[in-house]
Amino acid sequence: MTDGPTYGFDTLQIHAGARPDPATGARQTPIYQTTAYVFRDAEHAAALFNLQEVGYIYSRLTNPTVAVLQERIATLEGGVGAVCCSSGHAAQIMALFPLMGPGKNIVVSNRLYGGSITQFSQTIHRFGWSAKFVDIDDMDAIKSAIDDDTRAVFCESIANPGGHVADIRAVADVADAAGLPLIVDNTSATPYLCRPIEHGATLVVHSMTKFLTGNGTVTGGVVVDSGSFDWAASDKFPSLSEPEPAYHGLKFAETFGPLAFTFHGIAIGLRDLGMTLNPQAAHYTLMGIETLSLRMQRHVENATKISEWLEKHPAVEGVTYAGLNSSPYHDRAAKVCPRGAGGLFTVALKAGYEGCVKFVEALEIFSHVANLGDTRSLVIHSASTTHRQLTPEQQIAAGAAPNVVRISIGIEEADDLIADLDQALHKANA
Ligand SMILES: *Cc1c(COP(=O)(O)O)cnc(C)c1O
Repeated sequence: MTDGPTYGFDTLQIHAGARPDPATGARQTPIYQTTAYVFRDAEHAAALFNLQEVGYIYSRLTNPTVAVLQERIATLEGGVGAVCCSSGHAAQIMALFPLMGPGKNIVVSNRLYGGSITQFSQTIHRFGWSAKFVDIDDMDAIKSAIDDDTRAVFCESIANPGGHVADIRAVADVADAAGLPLIVDNTSATPYLCRPIEHGATLVVHSMTKFLTGNGTVTGGVVVDSGSFDWAASDKFPSLSEPEPAYHGLKFAETFGPLAFTFHGIAIGLRDLGMTLNPQAAHYTLMGIETLSLRMQRHVENATKISEWLEKHPAVEGVTYAGLNSSPYHDRAAKVCPRGAGGLFTVALKAGYEGCVKFVEALEIFSHVANLGDTRSLVIHSASTTHRQLTPEQQIAAGAAPNVVRISIGIEEADDLIADLDQALHKANA
């Protein structure tokens, strides 16, 4: 189909980017399980390698199944292009790679997925990059953290796992005033609940592993470009604005305009870093996205009902779901993610660290796993698992204190989930 702004989300999640297979008429997008593509002739091959013509060369760079997924997600997010990669963490590196260099830094929210805090506070140092962690609600703190070597601001729309919602517009305005792109990790919200580009984000990253695929089968990531950032407006982004020696001095910003970041992601990022999504994984994610809105509605409905029930339970100290009236982010959530605050929250138990361990072990429907965004309900005690590499201060800032359990509400019967939580809370207190 030709996609246009006239189609609604539910139509686009099924059709955007896809058309019947030109060779066979296959209605569903085929899995193009191929490494390479035959060139028409030597001239065609040369044009493809020079980036003078768009087409398929080799599946480390592009693949038709992956291309459909890229176009679908770009459309759902309201971006101009997207590059899929092998995981959410790969997507974060792919988003930063064109912007950064040795000695450069990013200003990031201290409320992030535990793995992202580790990636930014430890691993990126090996590239000579660094991250400055700030309270993303404190605009003055963001402004004063930005210096001449800062190349991006990074936050999550709905933070995993603490139930924090970022004021994306306010953060985007600060980044914009400093001539910097804002990168938003939209994993927990998905484009059904939040479209960061409409609030001023430059780039959106996802772990497709979570709600986009939706059933715990795939690891994948994506970087979506809004196409609205002028990379040549300053000398801060030479990879995009200056001649690229690996392509005979081509300037990405000049040659590809709003698609510069996306082309760079494929032609340099995937070509040389090789964090490519395979077509089989792209197929599973495409299948998942076809039902995204239906699943997210049910995730939100269940999470609302269950968080309201948990909040009143005598064994519970507090619940962080941003959809709750008691949440400090309730009003902001209504602006940033008006269709609901997602399916993820944390619950603090009065029984402390030991009580959390008993609770997690007593649950029967909920699985104890290091994942979220599955059709199945999942639970994890962050302080003893995903966030155990962090200092106690970092754990608390990230919403993963020792008496806190992260819950990812699935799309089962809410009453069955409530009964399971109830019996496990009794055992936690025994
Ligand atoms: C899981 C997750 C990631 C990392 O994604 P992977 O696919 O596991 O590499 C990044 N950000 C958020 C918010 C996540 O939940």
